[in-house]
Amino acid sequence: CGIVGYIGHRDAWPIVLKGLKRLEYRGYDSAGISLISENRLSIYKKVGKVQELENFSEGRNLSGTIGMGHTRWATHGIPSDRNSHPHTSNDGRLTIIHNGIIENYAILKEELVSRGHVFNSDTDTEVLIHLIGEIYKKENVDLLEAVRLSLHQVSGAYAIVIMDEDQPEQLIAARKGSPLVIGVGAGEYFIASDATPIIEYTKNVIYLNDNEIALVKREELVIKRLDNVVQTPYIQELELKL
Ligand code: GLU
Repeated sequence: CGIVGYIGHRDAWPIVLKGLKRLEYRGYDSAGISLISENRLSIYKKVGKVQELENFSEGRNLSGTIGMGHTRWATHGIPSDRNSHPHTSNDGRLTIIHNGIIENYAILKEELVSRGHVFNSDTDTEVLIHLIGEIYKKENVDLLEAVRLSLHQVSGAYAIVIMDEDQPEQLIAARKGSPLVIGVGAGEYFIASDATPIIEYTKNVIYLNDNEIALVKREELVIKRLDNVVQTPYIQELELKL
């Protein structure tokens, strides 16, 4: 339901947490955050309110300049800790947050299970990240390309953000049918399902179009279409007031 991502030079956790709070108005049943800290990926997720994540963070050292969070409105799999996002690939290295529905998840899941994949949730989302993880390993391509190839195999609607434990210098985002906004800062980028988590940091935003996929690094942004044609990012100035 709600998505927030951050990559830059500040601590991601408080930015993501605050962003999730700003998205609470959309409604949700669970919330979760993943963070890369000293090259290790951690995931904190729970059924219930964003406040639970905030309580959890008290007294803990949650530093790390790349992270992302999600508020879930369950469509596939009951609201529960294990069905909350983020979800991970079979090897646990890739993590995803997703708004929307992967319509052909059942057949994809059956195929992945037959190839030895073990699932930890009942969600459509986990199927997508397992598929991406498999293609990433097998095809010997970079992660952007693995995501692009995988998205050709799915039908449905999605806004997704993906993080790779082995590459803490990048986030990958894509959309089809669910909105996604990228906020452009100085040496930092913000990603969100609408502009409300972004406005306090920057007014410069890029609305990702359907069938576009973005590689987001601290000092670089590349946007491609799913057919592999590179797009020139169109930066708009937000007129929203806080
Ligand atoms: N279909 C996904 C799920 O049920 C995402 C739902 C959402 O948009 O929050 O986990």
